[in-house]
Amino acid sequence: MNNMLACPSCGLDETESIVHLGSYILRCAACGEAIVATSSMGMFDSDHAFSAFADPGPGKHPAPEMLIARGPLRQISTAISGAARNGTLIRLIPDPKG
Ligand SMILES: [Zn+2]
Repeated sequence: MNNMLACPSCGLDETESIVHLGSYILRCAACGEAIVATSSMGMFDSDHAFSAFADPGPGKHPAPEMLIARGPLRQISTAISGAARNGTLIRLIPDPKG
C-alpha cells in the first residue's frame, strides 16, 4: 500500500511503519522523514499479522529482544498502544507467516 509514496526529502520510496503515541506514521527508511501520519485507530482494526518492536531508528533492523508483541493487529493493539503511550516509537513489521 505504500509503494506509491516517495520521501519528499531524499526521494526514496522505502518506508517504515511507526506507531508513536496515537499516530500511525510512514517514515522514510533512509533519512527518517515522516511522509504520512494518521490516527492509529483505523490501522489497528485489522487481522493482518505484524511484529511490533521498539524502534531502533531509521533504516536499522530491530533486534529480536526488542520485540513487544506479535500477531494480528487487532490482538496486539493494546500492547502497542500501551508501549507507545509513554513516547516509545514502535516499529511495525509485516509478519510473513500472518
Ligand atoms: Zn528520505
